[in-house]
Amino acid sequence: FGSELDGQVAIVTGASSGIGSATAKSLASRGASVVVAARREGELEELAATIEDDGGDALVVPTDVTVDDDIDNLVEATLDEYGRIDILVNNAGLMPLAHIGEADRETLQTTIDVNLTGLITLTHAVVPTMMEQESGHIVNLSSVVGRFLQANSSHYNAAKAGVKMFSDSLRLDVAEAGIHVSSIEPGAVDTELLDHIPDDEVQKNVKDYVGTMDALAPEDIARTITFVVTQPARVDINEVLIRPLDQV
Ligand code: NDP
Repeated sequence: FGSELDGQVAIVTGASSGIGSATAKSLASRGASVVVAARREGELEELAATIEDDGGDALVVPTDVTVDDDIDNLVEATLDEYGRIDILVNNAGLMPLAHIGEADRETLQTTIDVNLTGLITLTHAVVPTMMEQESGHIVNLSSVVGRFLQANSSHYNAAKAGVKMFSDSLRLDVAEAGIHVSSIEPGAVDTELLDHIPDDEVQKNVKDYVGTMDALAPEDIARTITFVVTQPARVDINEVLIRPLDQV
């Protein structure tokens, strides 16, 4: 175990699978106490047990980022247990791709609620603590599609481009208080994200496309996030675009 993050406290949302789970393990392996948040409590408990078996420290807080009370509870539980928040990884997300003419309204709404509104709401809940500490690091999961176009994805592209713009605007407001803001823009990563695409044909097409590549592993993004949050205080890595070598 490394020790760069000894004594630091990190909240990771969407920690029940994929990139969030790998990131929680990676931050814990560098010494951070990790607060793991998502809706599936069983997966979070398993993750926390793995982290603790490896000598790390984890706290499970079941959270739906679209529910205000859950957001408040996540922050309160973290402060009750540890008294500070050094790192917030806003990773919870979903990608229910669909053609705008065929999507139901709920799909469009949920996409914005989880990927963008939830991220903004949790950031809003955490920033006062970081301002008081005069330090902190907020890492937001945008996507390659925050920059490049993708079919059947107008709602998801809008959410992820929104994450990028939110991050850059937020930095203007909080940098003076010693708070770092970074956005991470992954290309194809091998997780369960695609399994939740509701339309079978759209899901198959995206899986076929991703199948042509040697997709990234969640650990590749976890390593990147860990690199981003272990820089000297004067450094702010504003954004990282990271894609499989063959996703060009
Ligand atoms: P996963 O589907 O494996 O993970 C998504 C996580 O988000 C799960 O832990 C899920 O947990 C959580 N989540 C979903 N809805 C909510 C909610 N309402 N409240 C709290 N947590 C929620 O996918 P990835 O690991 O791939 O995705 C992580 C992030 O990376 C997402 O923001 C995604 O958009 C982004 N990304 C992924 C890429 C990829 O190719 N995989 C590429 C670019 C960006 P639970 O269901 O338990 O709540």
